[in-house]
Amino acid sequence: MTSPLAHALVQARTHPAALNRLRERIGLTTEAARRAGGYLAAAPYRPIAPSADAVAALDIFRRPLQSEPIPARDVLAELDVFGSPATVNQGVGRYFGYVNGGVEPAAAAAAILAGAWDQNVAMPGQSPVGAVLDEVAAGWIVDLLGLPSDAVATFTTGATLANFTAIVAARDALLARAGWSVEEHGLTGAPAIRVIAGAEVHASVLKSLRMAGLGPGIIERVPVDATGAIDADAFPTDTDALTLVLLQAGNVTSGSSDPFARIIPGVRERGGWVHVDGAFGLWAAASPTRKHLVKGVELADSWATDAHKWLNAPYDLGVVIVREREDLYRAMAITAPYLATADERPLLHLGPHMSQRARGVETWALLTARGRTGIAQLIDDSCDRASQFADLLRAAGVEVLARPVLNQVPVAFGEAPGEPGDDKVTDAVIVAIQAEGTLWAGASTWKGQRILRLSISDAATTSDDIDASAVAIVESWKAVLARPQRSTG
Ligand SMILES: *Cc1c(COP(=O)(O)O)cnc(C)c1O
Repeated sequence: MTSPLAHALVQARTHPAALNRLRERIGLTTEAARRAGGYLAAAPYRPIAPSADAVAALDIFRRPLQSEPIPARDVLAELDVFGSPATVNQGVGRYFGYVNGGVEPAAAAAAILAGAWDQNVAMPGQSPVGAVLDEVAAGWIVDLLGLPSDAVATFTTGATLANFTAIVAARDALLARAGWSVEEHGLTGAPAIRVIAGAEVHASVLKSLRMAGLGPGIIERVPVDATGAIDADAFPTDTDALTLVLLQAGNVTSGSSDPFARIIPGVRERGGWVHVDGAFGLWAAASPTRKHLVKGVELADSWATDAHKWLNAPYDLGVVIVREREDLYRAMAITAPYLATADERPLLHLGPHMSQRARGVETWALLTARGRTGIAQLIDDSCDRASQFADLLRAAGVEVLARPVLNQVPVAFGEAPGEPGDDKVTDAVIVAIQAEGTLWAGASTWKGQRILRLSISDAATTSDDIDASAVAIVESWKAVLARPQRSTG
């Protein structure tokens, strides 16, 4: 005999309304997976950037919200029919824009399952599996990157939030050591922090500093060399215990890294804090053949990196790592009676987010599916493909602005093969490449010059993709040069 309570529970769960909702969810989940499979099957035949027609058709979504419900199956169909063609076709190996990366199959699949779980990992009790996988995956990342084994890592939405989190931790730690409690007094009247960064510091670090109340007027910018890495000889030697230094692993244009081993020890000996933005470049540390490129990075106090870029995790997934757990905790702890917990690893006290999805799930799946050698392979392959790209383009007379150190290739196009890049030609070639559709890459300006920036950060990219893309780039360039209106101005 079941107890009256158990009987009531069974009744509630088998109530027709609840059952119908569940059945609908099961059907929709299967339907969504079927549509997702169809989308992927068609991906190789789609242009990398969506057609103008597909983008124009998005107007269907711009309508007032209707008053009556629409069946979820129809909602899904509308999303697929009008949404899928208007996506940027990432993950097929020929998207070289920004540092977007592709997606690892195991991680993308885990995201589907995790979506059904719908876990909030703010506190371990809210999701035991989320808490365990977060802890394990975060620990593996610290290990893979060769960072101090007792450093604490936690997931964020991306490297921007990771930079922000570390900068706030640094700010509060430096001020705490100087006898000032930000928790109690805030920043008004606090001792001034000296902030030093390279001339080519990433914009997200500047934004993070601003959000942390530390910029931009007070930031000292140290000169960089031809590759965009800080010139160690120009780095100030008079930093003090209230100095925050922002270094970078992986310049977003050239892939170069700052000379960590020459800068970090002195800054830390004098009591300062060194943070490293390694959104993509920090992953060089996971490859035995490339880790020398970020030598000494493990000496810092904090690090930011992304899993959604070069590691090929799904969006959005960043990682912040701090050497001393208490520094992160001091800055990020949140108190309310209902949040009291004896747990070792309450995520809401380790990062800026409170409620958060279980980012450790996909990361765990990705790392497990690849293993250590698979991660190293991913890094090495991208670096090799970047060199291949640079060699092919240089051989065709394109100006390659920096020999690829990692996975980034900045190039510019001249009036003729072998001539230095011309801004107008470069911009015209970029438009032509984007319209041609074989690949996609974006424009940037580096050291005053317009460039096409190629980022090889998708594990799906084969050397055939590089060959085909190099041909398409050179053909687009030739087409621009052949335009009759060019000679008439
Ligand atoms: C992309 C990038 C960031 C910002 O990362 P998000 O994940 O987009 O927030 C920061 N620094 C560098 C060097 C980057 O390449």
